[in-house]
Amino acid sequence: MGWRPSRYAVVGTTAFRHPSGRVVRPVLNTATARVYLVDLDTAARLAREREPLTEDAARDRGLVEAGLLVEAGRDEAAEVIAAGRTAARDGRSRDFVVMPSAYCNMACAYCGQGHERFALARGHRSALTERVRTAARSGRYDALNVRWFGGEPLMAYAVLRELSRSFIASAGEAGVRYSAKVVTNGVLLDARKLTALHRECGVGLIEVTVDGPAEAHDASRRLKSGGRSFHRILAVIAAALEDPEVADLSFLVRTNVGVHNAGLAEPLAAELAAAGLAHERVTCYPAPVHPWGNDVTEMALQRGTMAAVELDWFRAYRRHGLRFPLLPGAPRRVVCAAVTRHSEVVAPDGRVFSCTEQPLVPGLGTGDLGHVSALDAASPRPAGAFDDWYDAMAAGETPCRGCPILPVCGGACPKLWREGSVPCPSLRENVRERLDLYATSAGYIPVLS
Ligand code: SF4
Ligand code: SF4
Repeated sequence: MGWRPSRYAVVGTTAFRHPSGRVVRPVLNTATARVYLVDLDTAARLAREREPLTEDAARDRGLVEAGLLVEAGRDEAAEVIAAGRTAARDGRSRDFVVMPSAYCNMACAYCGQGHERFALARGHRSALTERVRTAARSGRYDALNVRWFGGEPLMAYAVLRELSRSFIASAGEAGVRYSAKVVTNGVLLDARKLTALHRECGVGLIEVTVDGPAEAHDASRRLKSGGRSFHRILAVIAAALEDPEVADLSFLVRTNVGVHNAGLAEPLAAELAAAGLAHERVTCYPAPVHPWGNDVTEMALQRGTMAAVELDWFRAYRRHGLRFPLLPGAPRRVVCAAVTRHSEVVAPDGRVFSCTEQPLVPGLGTGDLGHVSALDAASPRPAGAFDDWYDAMAAGETPCRGCPILPVCGGACPKLWREGSVPCPSLRENVRERLDLYATSAGYIPVLS
């Protein structure tokens, strides 16, 4: 049998020398999300699209075991898509994205949500509780994962606590694992709430948006009531990192990057580090401002610009000792909630959706799949618009089938593809520069040619 380079071996362009004298180029296997530093001959072989087949698997055993050389006849894309389809169909986790409140106390210029003042009503809460209990008891799942989303979920803090208690009890009775995450603007967080969220509500991760250093953040993330939030948010997170009551609570600090703040990586990273957030329980990342059913053309960066800006942000994070996801940590088999019937989004009015960006967005809220009070509690969510995602990719509806980063991307966003937008993440454009950053972070020095 012959062997050839994997289509998922992404070879860095720069050569690096280690202080020990070893000269290497980095290679990312996107099928496994693992990085290798290989000698220059090996890198050249892996980079050649038409590398002559090698019959000598024994000589190349390390490369074969790493999946960087594969059998010549394999259809790797078909395998990746099939693995995604299986994971979406047979996964042992049941995921609920719950929007307890339609309202948000912020009015960010790039947000496409409408924010009406209501929360998940009592009758809908009972129906959701029953739905979660039935899922937990079904024997079909090993884990129950809840993501609190909004609007601003902490606007309905009492509802979140009440539902968490019942969800955790259901998981405990059924013997399934429970985990929860809150996506919040952070304004309503304080030490008492953080302790309750972590210890009573099973929240292990809190994602907060910080859009720049103080002035830029407070201008971009405007509070409807007026006032500022930057220093308050950082102080609450910093205090939590010192508080033994929440010692297992982690934070994600997202920055929505657009033309308004693209150049502010350095001052923001400096402020985050000065506040004490260069910590193993805090991960930072930049996310592009993108259309959310609204027009953000004046705020969003062009794709190529965003890819370059993202690298600036990574360098700033690194300079200040902040943690950040430079390269994917694992393959992404299930691209998002919308492609599996073991996941559903429950909107504040009780309607159930498959996609997180359909509820609350004026003009898009018609894609609901039923009402939580009317659905059969024993069934997974009804069929949604994107459940055919893996068949669509296999059939070539998008170019993903031929993409070298498909295993770690998964196709990014079925909704955007079908709206005619190209949702490819920056990784597609800057993966080699990220490999360069990886090598320099590991102590290698670029070899100038
Ligand atoms: S969305 Fe773009 S980057 Fe992701 S797999 Fe498809 S083509 Fe590749
Ligand atoms: S389809 Fe796109 S917007 Fe909807 S949940 Fe998936 S990634 Fe998010």
